[in-house]
Amino acid sequence: MIFKNKKIGLLTVLGIAEQSTYRLETRTKCWVSKCQCGSKVIKTNVDLKEAEQRGIKEHCGCLHKSKYDSLAGLKFFSVTAIIRTLPITDNAGKKKATYFCKCDCGYEFNRDAANLLGHIKNPCPKCP
Ligand SMILES: [Zn+2]
Ligand SMILES: [Zn+2]
Repeated sequence: MIFKNKKIGLLTVLGIAEQSTYRLETRTKCWVSKCQCGSKVIKTNVDLKEAEQRGIKEHCGCLHKSKYDSLAGLKFFSVTAIIRTLPITDNAGKKKATYFCKCDCGYEFNRDAANLLGHIKNPCPKCP
């Protein structure tokens, strides 16, 4: 299934999200999409396929207006949240809003939004 340049809900699919670039821990094909609000988000093939078939209004999270949904571009100490990525599932099976982050030290990793917001020190695991 090729989603490139397709419009699904508020999202326009830009291209494939390389697993190595975004530290994705999945074998599923993923796509980088741009939302109408300007934020980018990573979605799986399955997400987009389901949204297209069922006419779901996909968005980057901006329609939820939760404090966890618009962190892309913000900086937490030396760590910048780059793009919203696939949600991390916690021990209780709850999906958490997650961002692909890059630290000024060069280290890249995925962190859930609550962790970024709640940190009292630099969230980068490589920085002291
Ligand atoms: Zn949006
Ligand atoms: Zn760092």
